[in-house]
Amino acid sequence: MDTLSKQQRSALMAKIRGRNTQPELIVRSLVHRLGYRFRLHDRKLPGQPDIVLPRHGKIILVHGCFWHQHTGCARLPKSRQEYWLPKLEQNRARDTKNLRALRRLGWQVLVLWECEISRPSIETKLRRFLET
Ligand SMILES: [Zn+2]
Repeated sequence: MDTLSKQQRSALMAKIRGRNTQPELIVRSLVHRLGYRFRLHDRKLPGQPDIVLPRHGKIILVHGCFWHQHTGCARLPKSRQEYWLPKLEQNRARDTKNLRALRRLGWQVLVLWECEISRPSIETKLRRFLET
């Protein structure tokens, strides 16, 4: 057994099961409340981005801090590192690749981390991204 916290485990399971993690649901409802329409998990785009606003040419990615290894925030699991390290490294590499590909296609991309979503500033950040 490894030593993921309950929260990490449920975030991980949500990720494995598919999408619709809690942070993503929060961001979606914010964007919706700001009056924007969006598509979810567009399979035609690199990495099937979480929230796509085709008319605005914008994409919002909601990243779990553990799964996407948020720098200076996420902690590595204490055990089974031989299992986790390559896996998490792969995730990061994939994130970078997808981000580049999306930008090359002309999309503006905002990455939101799980840990910033509960901050009051999140709405300002979103608004600024969407309005400009
Ligand atoms: Zn974080």
